[in-house]
Amino acid sequence: MLEHLKLYRDLGVRWVRAGSTVARREPQKPRTDGRTEKKSSPAAPVNQTIPQSAAQKALDGVSTFVISPAGNESLDSIRSDLKDCMRCKLSPTRKNIVFGSGNPNAELMFVGEAPGADEDEQGLPFVGRAGQLLTKIIEAMDLSRNDVFICNILKCRPPGNRNPETDEIAACEQFLFRQIASVKPKIICALGTFGAQTLLRTTESIGRLRGRLIDYRGLKLIATFHPAYLLRNPNEKRKVWEDMLVIRRYLDSLH
Ligand code: URA
Repeated sequence: MLEHLKLYRDLGVRWVRAGSTVARREPQKPRTDGRTEKKSSPAAPVNQTIPQSAAQKALDGVSTFVISPAGNESLDSIRSDLKDCMRCKLSPTRKNIVFGSGNPNAELMFVGEAPGADEDEQGLPFVGRAGQLLTKIIEAMDLSRNDVFICNILKCRPPGNRNPETDEIAACEQFLFRQIASVKPKIICALGTFGAQTLLRTTESIGRLRGRLIDYRGLKLIATFHPAYLLRNPNEKRKVWEDMLVIRRYLDSLH
């Protein structure tokens, strides 16, 4: 509880309330990460405007990816298709493919960059230090990891955690797009420069992209700072919390 309050303080949350208005879409298929539901006090939304997206311009005509409303491919079948993937040069050095985990019917999907050492070891996304911070942020939204779906642009760890390369993204992104079409989230939260720039096909900085509710292929997308960046720049947590409130307000508006 104390930990939780400290995170609220770090995130710049001024007050919390005792009931939740966040709707959850019940999973219709078994969850894949086996974590238990967390009951916590939600943070209250604060007054906030949702700016129109300047980044929207960057989207026009740059990607052929669309979310098919009729798409009914299961996450299991996408995972089976990946098999012991050898489609790019990351395969010889990875220990485990990190497919993603969480609610296969999540309304909110987090997309990071690529697995790090801990994720490569465990085969699960965001389980290292940055992942623990992401978990706390999710829980501060009165959600658990079992309510959301978490995955990455790349499913394999780049050696030494170097940046993903163009050919690796080209080989891997179809799996992310199929995951999005399968889960059909209402909103995607792109974590960090790489996740945001790759999904939005833009070179705009994360500082300019973040905080904007962007129309993205029939759903919404918001970009925010990566939790690893927050570990190095804790003063930026407040901005991430503001972005999480935009998500909360958007999801609340749907129910
Ligand atoms: N950073 C990411 O972008 N993804 C992970 O899964 C872990 C760290």
